[in-house]
Amino acid sequence: MHQKIWENCLLFIRESIPGQSFKTWFEPIQPLKLESDVLTIQVPSQFFYEWLEENYVHLLKQAIKREIGPNGRLEYSVVMDRGDEVQKPVTINVSGSSNSQNANRVNGFDQYKNPDFLVKLKHHSDLNPTYRFDNFIEGDCNRLARSAGFAVAQKPGVTSFNPLMFYGGVGLGKTHLVQAIGNEIKSEHPGKRIVYVASEKFTNQFIEALRNNNIQDFINYFREVDVLILDDVQFLRDKEKTQEIFFHIFNHLHQGGKQIIMTSDCAPKDLKGLQERLVSRFKWGLTADLQQPDFETRMAIIQKKMQEDGIAIPDQVVEYIAYTVDTNVRELEGVVISLIAHASLTKSEVNLELAKQILKNIVTDIDSEVGIDYIQKTVSDYFNVPQDDLKAKTRKKEIVIARQVAMYFSKDYTNHSLKSIGYHFGGRDHSTVIHAVQSVNDMIDTNAKFRYSIDELKKKLKMRTAIV
Ligand code: ADP
Ligand code: MG
Repeated sequence: MHQKIWENCLLFIRESIPGQSFKTWFEPIQPLKLESDVLTIQVPSQFFYEWLEENYVHLLKQAIKREIGPNGRLEYSVVMDRGDEVQKPVTINVSGSSNSQNANRVNGFDQYKNPDFLVKLKHHSDLNPTYRFDNFIEGDCNRLARSAGFAVAQKPGVTSFNPLMFYGGVGLGKTHLVQAIGNEIKSEHPGKRIVYVASEKFTNQFIEALRNNNIQDFINYFREVDVLILDDVQFLRDKEKTQEIFFHIFNHLHQGGKQIIMTSDCAPKDLKGLQERLVSRFKWGLTADLQQPDFETRMAIIQKKMQEDGIAIPDQVVEYIAYTVDTNVRELEGVVISLIAHASLTKSEVNLELAKQILKNIVTDIDSEVGIDYIQKTVSDYFNVPQDDLKAKTRKKEIVIARQVAMYFSKDYTNHSLKSIGYHFGGRDHSTVIHAVQSVNDMIDTNAKFRYSIDELKKKLKMRTAIV
Protein backbone atom coordinates (compact mmCIF):
# COMPACT_ATOMS: atom_id res chain seq x y z
CA MET A 1 0.00 0.00 0.00
CA HIS A 2 2.65 2.52 1.05
CA GLN A 3 4.73 1.47 -1.93
CA LYS A 4 1.93 2.15 -4.34
CA ILE A 5 1.24 5.54 -2.84
CA TRP A 6 4.86 6.52 -2.97
CA GLU A 7 5.11 5.35 -6.56
CA ASN A 8 2.24 7.62 -7.46
CA CYS A 9 3.84 10.50 -5.63
CA LEU A 10 6.99 9.90 -7.61
CA LEU A 11 5.09 9.94 -10.88
CA PHE A 12 3.77 13.34 -9.97
CA ILE A 13 7.12 14.64 -8.74
CA ARG A 14 8.99 13.35 -11.74
CA GLU A 15 6.93 15.56 -13.98
CA SER A 16 7.68 18.68 -12.02
CA ILE A 17 11.45 18.69 -11.73
CA PRO A 18 14.48 18.10 -13.97
CA GLY A 19 15.44 14.47 -14.50
CA GLN A 20 18.81 14.85 -12.86
CA SER A 21 17.35 16.32 -9.68
CA PHE A 22 14.80 13.58 -9.57
CA LYS A 23 17.49 10.98 -9.86
CA THR A 24 19.63 12.59 -7.19
CA TRP A 25 17.04 13.44 -4.61
CA PHE A 26 14.09 11.12 -5.10
CA GLU A 27 15.31 7.82 -6.42
CA PRO A 28 17.28 7.01 -3.26
CA ILE A 29 14.19 7.38 -1.09
CA GLN A 30 12.50 4.25 0.30
CA PRO A 31 8.90 4.24 1.42
CA LEU A 32 8.64 2.49 4.81
CA LYS A 33 5.05 2.49 5.94
CA LEU A 34 1.68 4.16 5.88
CA GLU A 35 -0.23 4.53 9.13
CA SER A 36 -3.32 6.65 9.55
CA ASP A 37 -2.55 8.99 6.71
CA VAL A 38 1.12 9.31 7.67
CA LEU A 39 3.56 8.11 5.07
CA THR A 40 7.06 7.41 6.35
CA ILE A 41 9.92 7.57 3.93
CA GLN A 42 13.52 6.71 4.57
CA VAL A 43 16.23 9.11 3.40
CA PRO A 44 19.94 8.30 3.32
CA SER A 45 21.21 11.13 5.50
CA GLN A 46 20.51 14.13 7.58
CA PHE A 47 21.69 16.42 4.86
CA PHE A 48 19.43 14.70 2.40
CA TYR A 49 16.48 15.34 4.63
CA GLU A 50 17.32 19.02 5.00
CA TRP A 51 17.81 19.38 1.32
CA LEU A 52 14.40 17.92 0.62
CA GLU A 53 12.80 20.18 3.18
CA GLU A 54 14.52 23.22 1.84
CA ASN A 55 14.01 22.65 -1.83
CA TYR A 56 11.12 20.30 -2.33
CA VAL A 57 8.80 20.72 0.61
CA HIS A 58 6.01 22.23 -1.46
CA LEU A 59 6.24 19.62 -4.10
CA LEU A 60 6.16 16.86 -1.51
CA LYS A 61 3.17 18.42 0.18
CA GLN A 62 1.30 18.59 -3.06
CA ALA A 63 2.10 15.00 -3.91
CA ILE A 64 1.03 13.74 -0.49
CA LYS A 65 -2.20 15.72 -0.59
CA ARG A 66 -3.02 14.31 -3.98
CA GLU A 67 -2.37 10.73 -3.02
CA ILE A 68 -3.52 10.55 0.60
CA GLY A 69 -5.91 13.44 0.90
CA PRO A 70 -5.99 16.68 2.90
CA ASN A 71 -4.90 14.95 6.11
CA GLY A 72 -1.93 13.32 4.51
CA ARG A 73 1.36 13.78 6.27
CA LEU A 74 4.92 12.79 5.73
CA GLU A 75 7.49 11.51 8.16
CA TYR A 76 11.14 11.05 7.47
CA SER A 77 13.32 8.36 8.75
CA VAL A 78 16.95 9.35 8.57
CA VAL A 79 19.58 6.68 8.20
CA MET A 80 22.47 7.28 10.53
CA ASP A 81 25.84 7.93 9.02
CA ARG A 82 27.60 5.11 10.73
CA GLY A 83 26.29 1.60 10.56
CA ASP A 84 22.90 0.72 9.19
CA GLU A 85 21.02 1.65 12.26
CA VAL A 86 17.86 3.44 11.39
CA GLN A 87 17.14 6.55 13.33
CA LYS A 88 13.80 6.90 14.96
CA PRO A 89 11.63 8.78 12.55
CA VAL A 90 11.74 12.51 12.80
CA THR A 91 8.23 13.73 12.56
CA ILE A 92 7.63 16.57 10.26
CA ASN A 93 4.18 17.62 9.49
CA VAL A 94 4.19 18.53 5.85
CA SER A 95 1.14 20.65 6.22
CA GLY A 96 3.04 22.86 8.66
CA SER A 97 6.15 24.80 7.77
CA SER A 98 9.46 23.12 7.66
CA ASN A 99 11.65 23.29 10.67
CA SER A 100 15.21 22.35 10.17
CA GLN A 101 16.20 23.28 13.73
CA ASN A 102 14.24 20.28 14.72
CA ALA A 103 16.28 18.15 12.44
CA ASN A 104 19.61 19.50 13.53
CA ARG A 105 19.23 17.93 16.91
CA VAL A 106 18.75 14.51 15.51
CA ASN A 107 22.16 13.87 14.21
CA GLY A 108 25.64 15.15 15.04
CA PHE A 109 27.80 16.36 12.22
CA ASP A 110 31.03 15.70 13.97
CA GLN A 111 31.85 12.54 12.15
CA TYR A 112 33.40 12.55 8.71
CA LYS A 113 32.94 9.52 6.55
CA ASN A 114 36.10 9.93 4.62
CA PRO A 115 39.06 11.52 6.45
CA ASP A 116 41.20 11.58 3.29
CA PHE A 117 38.72 13.78 1.58
CA LEU A 118 38.73 16.08 4.56
CA VAL A 119 42.50 16.34 4.46
CA LYS A 120 42.28 17.26 0.81
CA LEU A 121 39.63 19.88 1.42
CA LYS A 122 41.74 21.38 4.16
CA HIS A 123 44.83 21.34 2.05
CA HIS A 124 43.12 23.27 -0.70
CA SER A 125 41.68 25.93 1.52
CA ASP A 126 44.81 27.34 3.06
CA LEU A 127 45.55 31.02 3.18
CA ASN A 128 48.57 32.47 1.50
CA PRO A 129 50.46 34.45 4.15
CA THR A 130 52.13 36.74 1.62
CA TYR A 131 48.89 38.60 1.00
CA ARG A 132 48.43 41.01 3.88
CA PHE A 133 46.97 44.40 4.60
CA ASP A 134 50.38 45.91 5.26
CA ASN A 135 51.50 45.18 1.72
CA PHE A 136 48.23 46.14 0.11
CA ILE A 137 48.64 49.70 -1.10
CA GLU A 138 45.69 51.92 -0.52
CA GLY A 139 44.50 54.37 -3.15
CA ASP A 140 41.30 55.95 -4.42
CA CYS A 141 40.84 52.88 -6.57
CA ASN A 142 40.39 50.55 -3.61
CA ARG A 143 39.67 52.66 -0.53
CA LEU A 144 36.11 51.54 0.12
CA ALA A 145 36.91 47.90 -0.48
CA ARG A 146 39.97 48.02 1.70
CA SER A 147 38.31 49.69 4.66
CA ALA A 148 35.25 47.46 4.48
CA GLY A 149 37.60 44.50 4.37
CA PHE A 150 39.50 45.77 7.35
CA ALA A 151 36.29 46.31 9.34
CA VAL A 152 35.16 42.79 8.57
CA ALA A 153 38.54 41.42 9.60
CA GLN A 154 38.15 43.02 13.03
CA LYS A 155 34.61 41.76 13.55
CA PRO A 156 33.84 38.89 11.22
CA GLY A 157 30.15 38.08 10.96
CA VAL A 158 29.18 40.99 13.15
CA THR A 159 29.15 44.00 10.82
CA SER A 160 26.39 44.51 8.32
CA PHE A 161 28.94 43.77 5.60
CA ASN A 162 27.78 40.21 5.29
CA PRO A 163 28.24 38.96 2.69
CA LEU A 164 31.11 41.14 1.62
CA MET A 165 31.63 41.11 -2.09
CA PHE A 166 34.47 42.63 -4.12
CA TYR A 167 34.37 42.89 -7.84
CA GLY A 168 36.66 44.22 -10.55
CA GLY A 169 38.76 43.17 -13.53
CA VAL A 170 41.76 40.86 -13.47
CA GLY A 171 44.84 41.83 -11.56
CA LEU A 172 43.24 44.58 -9.52
CA GLY A 173 43.86 42.99 -6.15
CA LYS A 174 40.69 41.03 -5.33
CA THR A 175 42.49 37.90 -4.29
CA HIS A 176 45.11 39.84 -2.39
CA LEU A 177 42.48 41.72 -0.45
CA VAL A 178 40.33 38.75 0.55
CA GLN A 179 43.41 36.79 1.53
CA ALA A 180 44.54 39.76 3.61
CA ILE A 181 41.20 39.68 5.42
CA GLY A 182 41.62 35.98 6.06
CA ASN A 183 45.15 36.42 7.39
CA GLU A 184 44.13 39.30 9.58
CA ILE A 185 41.27 37.31 11.11
CA LYS A 186 43.60 34.42 11.63
CA SER A 187 45.96 36.53 13.70
CA GLU A 188 43.28 38.56 15.51
CA HIS A 189 40.91 35.67 16.16
CA PRO A 190 43.02 32.54 16.33
CA GLY A 191 40.05 30.34 17.22
CA LYS A 192 38.10 31.03 14.05
CA ARG A 193 37.99 28.59 11.21
CA ILE A 194 38.74 30.37 8.00
CA VAL A 195 38.39 28.77 4.63
CA TYR A 196 39.63 30.36 1.43
CA VAL A 197 38.59 28.56 -1.71
CA ALA A 198 38.65 29.47 -5.37
CA SER A 199 35.28 28.80 -6.96
CA GLU A 200 36.88 26.48 -9.41
CA LYS A 201 38.30 24.36 -6.61
CA PHE A 202 34.99 24.46 -4.83
CA THR A 203 33.29 23.15 -7.96
CA ASN A 204 35.83 20.40 -8.48
CA GLN A 205 35.65 19.30 -4.89
CA PHE A 206 31.91 19.21 -5.09
CA ILE A 207 32.06 17.06 -8.21
CA GLU A 208 34.52 14.77 -6.54
CA ALA A 209 32.26 14.53 -3.52
CA LEU A 210 29.31 13.68 -5.72
CA ARG A 211 31.27 11.03 -7.50
CA ASN A 212 32.54 9.42 -4.33
CA ASN A 213 29.34 9.72 -2.44
CA ASN A 214 30.88 12.18 -0.03
CA ILE A 215 28.42 15.01 -0.24
CA GLN A 216 27.83 14.88 3.45
CA ASP A 217 31.49 15.44 4.25
CA PHE A 218 31.65 18.24 1.76
CA ILE A 219 28.67 19.96 3.29
CA ASN A 220 29.87 19.41 6.82
CA TYR A 221 33.21 20.87 6.04
CA PHE A 222 31.84 24.09 4.64
CA ARG A 223 29.08 24.43 7.16
CA GLU A 224 31.47 24.35 10.05
CA VAL A 225 33.54 27.36 9.06
CA ASP A 226 33.38 30.79 10.67
CA VAL A 227 34.65 32.67 7.67
CA LEU A 228 34.11 31.44 4.14
CA ILE A 229 36.02 33.18 1.37
CA LEU A 230 34.94 32.19 -2.10
CA ASP A 231 37.11 33.69 -4.82
CA ASP A 232 35.94 34.33 -8.38
CA VAL A 233 32.28 33.35 -8.03
CA GLN A 234 31.76 34.12 -11.70
CA PHE A 235 33.26 30.69 -12.19
CA LEU A 236 30.01 29.16 -10.88
CA ARG A 237 28.29 30.45 -14.00
CA ASP A 238 25.93 27.82 -15.45
CA LYS A 239 27.01 25.26 -12.86
CA GLU A 240 23.53 24.67 -11.53
CA LYS A 241 24.28 22.00 -9.00
CA THR A 242 27.29 23.74 -7.55
CA GLN A 243 25.21 26.87 -7.21
CA GLU A 244 22.54 24.92 -5.40
CA ILE A 245 24.95 23.52 -2.91
CA PHE A 246 26.56 26.90 -2.40
CA PHE A 247 23.15 28.44 -1.86
CA HIS A 248 22.50 25.91 0.82
CA ILE A 249 25.85 26.52 2.52
CA PHE A 250 25.45 30.27 2.18
CA ASN A 251 22.09 30.23 3.93
CA HIS A 252 23.34 28.05 6.69
CA LEU A 253 26.38 30.21 7.39
CA HIS A 254 24.55 33.48 7.07
CA GLN A 255 21.83 32.41 9.45
CA GLY A 256 24.47 31.30 11.90
CA GLY A 257 26.12 34.73 11.84
CA LYS A 258 29.18 33.48 9.99
CA GLN A 259 31.09 35.75 7.66
CA ILE A 260 30.96 35.22 3.92
CA ILE A 261 33.37 37.00 1.60
CA MET A 262 33.32 36.71 -2.17
CA THR A 263 34.95 38.14 -5.25
CA SER A 264 33.79 38.34 -8.81
CA ASP A 265 35.06 39.77 -12.07
CA CYS A 266 31.91 41.83 -12.56
CA ALA A 267 29.14 43.49 -10.59
CA PRO A 268 26.50 41.14 -9.15
CA LYS A 269 23.88 42.42 -11.54
CA ASP A 270 26.06 41.38 -14.48
CA LEU A 271 26.69 37.89 -13.18
CA LYS A 272 24.98 36.07 -16.00
CA GLY A 273 24.34 32.39 -15.55
CA LEU A 274 23.94 32.63 -11.79
CA GLN A 275 20.61 31.90 -10.21
CA GLU A 276 18.69 35.00 -9.29
CA ARG A 277 18.12 33.87 -5.71
CA LEU A 278 21.86 33.56 -5.27
CA VAL A 279 22.66 36.92 -6.81
CA SER A 280 20.03 38.63 -4.70
CA ARG A 281 21.70 37.27 -1.57
CA PHE A 282 25.04 38.63 -2.72
CA LYS A 283 23.47 42.05 -2.49
CA TRP A 284 22.41 41.67 1.13
CA GLY A 285 25.67 42.91 2.53
CA LEU A 286 28.17 45.25 1.00
CA THR A 287 29.42 45.23 -2.55
CA ALA A 288 32.55 47.25 -3.34
CA ASP A 289 34.47 47.52 -6.56
CA LEU A 290 38.18 47.67 -7.23
CA GLN A 291 39.26 49.99 -9.96
CA GLN A 292 42.38 50.54 -11.97
CA PRO A 293 45.01 52.23 -9.84
CA ASP A 294 45.84 55.83 -10.58
CA PHE A 295 49.35 57.08 -11.20
CA GLU A 296 50.30 57.72 -7.56
CA THR A 297 49.03 54.36 -6.46
CA ARG A 298 50.98 52.69 -9.24
CA MET A 299 54.11 54.45 -8.06
CA ALA A 300 53.50 53.32 -4.51
CA ILE A 301 52.89 49.74 -5.59
CA ILE A 302 56.14 49.60 -7.53
CA GLN A 303 58.05 51.08 -4.62
CA LYS A 304 56.55 48.58 -2.23
CA LYS A 305 57.46 45.76 -4.54
CA MET A 306 61.05 46.95 -4.74
CA GLN A 307 61.26 47.32 -1.03
CA GLU A 308 59.99 43.77 -0.51
CA ASP A 309 62.53 42.39 -2.95
CA GLY A 310 65.29 44.53 -1.55
CA ILE A 311 66.01 46.13 -4.89
CA ALA A 312 66.60 49.71 -5.86
CA ILE A 313 65.21 51.18 -9.05
CA PRO A 314 65.89 54.82 -9.92
CA ASP A 315 62.91 57.11 -9.44
CA GLN A 316 62.95 58.05 -13.04
CA VAL A 317 62.43 54.44 -14.03
CA VAL A 318 59.69 53.90 -11.48
CA GLU A 319 57.89 56.90 -12.88
CA TYR A 320 58.33 55.74 -16.41
CA ILE A 321 56.83 52.33 -15.65
CA ALA A 322 54.01 53.74 -13.57
CA TYR A 323 53.25 56.09 -16.40
CA THR A 324 53.34 53.50 -19.18
CA VAL A 325 51.69 50.51 -17.57
CA ASP A 326 48.27 51.64 -16.50
CA THR A 327 46.19 48.52 -16.95
CA ASN A 328 46.33 46.57 -13.72
CA VAL A 329 48.57 45.68 -10.84
CA ARG A 330 49.49 42.24 -12.00
CA GLU A 331 50.76 43.70 -15.24
CA LEU A 332 52.68 46.31 -13.37
CA GLU A 333 54.33 43.71 -11.18
CA GLY A 334 55.11 41.63 -14.24
CA VAL A 335 57.02 44.47 -15.85
CA VAL A 336 58.95 45.22 -12.67
CA ILE A 337 59.87 41.56 -12.30
CA SER A 338 61.07 41.20 -15.86
CA LEU A 339 63.03 44.40 -15.51
CA ILE A 340 64.81 43.10 -12.46
CA ALA A 341 65.38 39.71 -14.05
CA HIS A 342 66.81 41.30 -17.14
CA ALA A 343 69.14 43.50 -15.21
CA SER A 344 70.46 40.67 -13.12
CA LEU A 345 70.84 38.24 -16.01
CA THR A 346 72.75 40.67 -18.17
CA LYS A 347 74.52 42.12 -15.14
CA SER A 348 73.48 45.57 -16.24
CA GLU A 349 71.95 48.21 -14.05
CA VAL A 350 68.29 49.04 -14.01
CA ASN A 351 68.02 52.27 -15.92
CA LEU A 352 65.60 54.06 -18.13
CA GLU A 353 67.20 52.64 -21.23
CA LEU A 354 66.58 49.09 -20.13
CA ALA A 355 63.05 49.86 -19.01
CA LYS A 356 62.20 51.35 -22.36
CA GLN A 357 63.70 48.43 -24.15
CA ILE A 358 61.75 45.92 -22.13
CA LEU A 359 58.48 47.71 -22.56
CA LYS A 360 59.18 48.08 -26.23
CA ASN A 361 59.82 44.37 -26.53
CA ILE A 362 56.50 43.65 -25.00
CA VAL A 363 54.84 46.16 -27.25
CA THR A 364 56.47 44.93 -30.45
CA ASP A 365 55.40 41.41 -29.62
CA ILE A 366 51.93 42.66 -29.97
CA ASP A 367 52.55 45.02 -32.83
CA SER A 368 53.69 42.21 -35.01
CA GLU A 369 50.00 41.91 -35.70
CA VAL A 370 48.46 40.63 -32.40
CA GLY A 371 49.63 38.11 -34.26
CA ILE A 372 48.91 34.63 -35.36
CA ASP A 373 52.51 34.07 -34.45
CA TYR A 374 52.03 35.34 -30.93
CA ILE A 375 48.84 33.32 -30.53
CA GLN A 376 50.63 30.20 -31.77
CA LYS A 377 53.42 30.77 -29.30
CA THR A 378 51.11 31.36 -26.37
CA VAL A 379 48.93 28.37 -27.19
CA SER A 380 51.82 25.99 -27.82
CA ASP A 381 53.49 27.11 -24.58
CA TYR A 382 50.27 26.56 -22.73
CA PHE A 383 49.73 23.06 -24.07
CA ASN A 384 53.42 22.36 -23.94
CA VAL A 385 53.82 21.34 -27.58
CA PRO A 386 56.41 22.65 -30.06
CA GLN A 387 55.17 25.68 -31.93
CA ASP A 388 56.37 24.29 -35.26
CA ASP A 389 54.11 21.28 -34.90
CA LEU A 390 51.10 23.57 -35.21
CA LYS A 391 52.17 24.16 -38.80
CA ALA A 392 53.25 20.60 -39.49
CA LYS A 393 51.26 17.64 -40.73
CA THR A 394 51.19 15.68 -37.51
CA ARG A 395 47.79 14.31 -36.39
CA LYS A 396 48.77 13.59 -32.81
CA LYS A 397 45.81 14.33 -30.64
CA GLU A 398 47.37 16.93 -28.36
CA ILE A 399 48.86 18.73 -31.35
CA VAL A 400 45.56 18.73 -33.20
CA ILE A 401 43.82 20.26 -30.20
CA ALA A 402 46.48 22.92 -29.73
CA ARG A 403 46.35 23.68 -33.44
CA GLN A 404 42.58 24.04 -33.40
CA VAL A 405 42.70 26.27 -30.36
CA ALA A 406 45.30 28.50 -31.98
CA MET A 407 43.15 28.72 -35.12
CA TYR A 408 40.14 29.55 -33.01
CA PHE A 409 41.93 32.46 -31.35
CA SER A 410 43.42 33.63 -34.64
CA LYS A 411 39.91 33.87 -35.99
CA ASP A 412 38.68 35.70 -32.89
CA TYR A 413 41.59 38.01 -32.15
CA THR A 414 43.03 38.98 -35.53
CA ASN A 415 41.66 40.39 -38.73
CA HIS A 416 43.05 37.61 -40.84
CA SER A 417 40.75 35.90 -43.30
CA LEU A 418 40.08 32.20 -42.92
CA LYS A 419 42.28 31.65 -45.89
CA SER A 420 45.15 33.60 -44.44
CA ILE A 421 44.80 31.78 -41.11
CA GLY A 422 44.96 28.46 -42.90
CA TYR A 423 48.04 29.66 -44.71
CA HIS A 424 49.78 30.44 -41.42
CA PHE A 425 49.10 26.95 -40.19
CA GLY A 426 51.19 25.16 -42.77
CA GLY A 427 49.07 25.98 -45.79
CA ARG A 428 45.80 24.41 -44.70
CA ASP A 429 42.64 25.50 -46.42
CA HIS A 430 39.86 27.62 -45.03
CA SER A 431 37.46 24.74 -44.38
CA THR A 432 39.98 23.29 -41.94
CA VAL A 433 39.86 26.54 -40.02
CA ILE A 434 36.07 26.53 -39.97
CA HIS A 435 36.12 22.98 -38.70
CA ALA A 436 38.65 23.93 -36.01
CA VAL A 437 36.52 26.79 -34.76
CA GLN A 438 33.51 24.51 -34.64
CA SER A 439 35.26 21.76 -32.72
CA VAL A 440 36.62 24.24 -30.21
CA ASN A 441 33.16 25.67 -29.66
CA ASP A 442 31.77 22.18 -29.18
CA MET A 443 34.42 21.31 -26.67
CA ILE A 444 33.84 24.55 -24.80
CA ASP A 445 30.22 23.53 -24.46
CA THR A 446 30.81 20.01 -23.30
CA ASN A 447 34.09 19.96 -21.44
CA ALA A 448 34.57 22.09 -18.35
CA LYS A 449 38.29 21.50 -18.13
CA PHE A 450 38.75 22.57 -21.68
CA ARG A 451 36.58 25.61 -21.15
CA TYR A 452 38.82 26.55 -18.28
CA SER A 453 41.91 26.27 -20.49
CA ILE A 454 40.29 28.55 -23.03
CA ASP A 455 39.51 31.09 -20.34
CA GLU A 456 43.07 30.95 -19.11
CA LEU A 457 44.40 31.47 -22.59
CA LYS A 458 42.05 34.35 -23.14
CA LYS A 459 43.46 36.01 -20.07
CA LYS A 460 47.01 35.51 -21.28
CA LEU A 461 46.25 36.86 -24.71
CA LYS A 462 44.27 39.79 -23.43
CA MET A 463 46.94 40.77 -20.94
CA ARG A 464 49.33 41.35 -23.79
CA THR A 465 46.89 43.28 -25.92
CA ALA A 466 46.06 45.47 -22.94
CA ILE A 467 49.59 46.88 -22.81
CA VAL A 468 49.46 48.45 -26.27
P1 ADP B 1 42.81 39.74 -8.86
O1 ADP B 1 42.49 38.67 -7.89
O2 ADP B 1 41.88 40.90 -8.78
O3 ADP B 1 42.94 39.23 -10.27
P2 ADP B 1 45.29 39.81 -7.43
O4 ADP B 1 44.80 39.99 -6.06
O5 ADP B 1 45.76 38.45 -7.81
O6 ADP B 1 44.23 40.33 -8.49
O7 ADP B 1 46.47 40.87 -7.67
C1 ADP B 1 47.44 40.73 -8.69
C2 ADP B 1 48.79 41.10 -8.13
O8 ADP B 1 48.82 42.48 -7.84
C3 ADP B 1 49.11 40.38 -6.84
O9 ADP B 1 50.46 40.02 -6.84
C4 ADP B 1 48.84 41.42 -5.76
O10 ADP B 1 49.67 41.23 -4.65
C5 ADP B 1 49.13 42.70 -6.47
N1 ADP B 1 48.30 43.81 -5.99
C6 ADP B 1 47.04 44.10 -6.40
N2 ADP B 1 46.56 45.19 -5.79
C7 ADP B 1 47.54 45.61 -4.97
C8 ADP B 1 47.67 46.71 -4.07
N3 ADP B 1 46.68 47.60 -3.88
N4 ADP B 1 48.83 46.81 -3.39
C9 ADP B 1 49.84 45.95 -3.57
N5 ADP B 1 49.78 44.91 -4.42
C10 ADP B 1 48.66 44.73 -5.11
MG1 MG C 1 42.05 36.66 -8.18
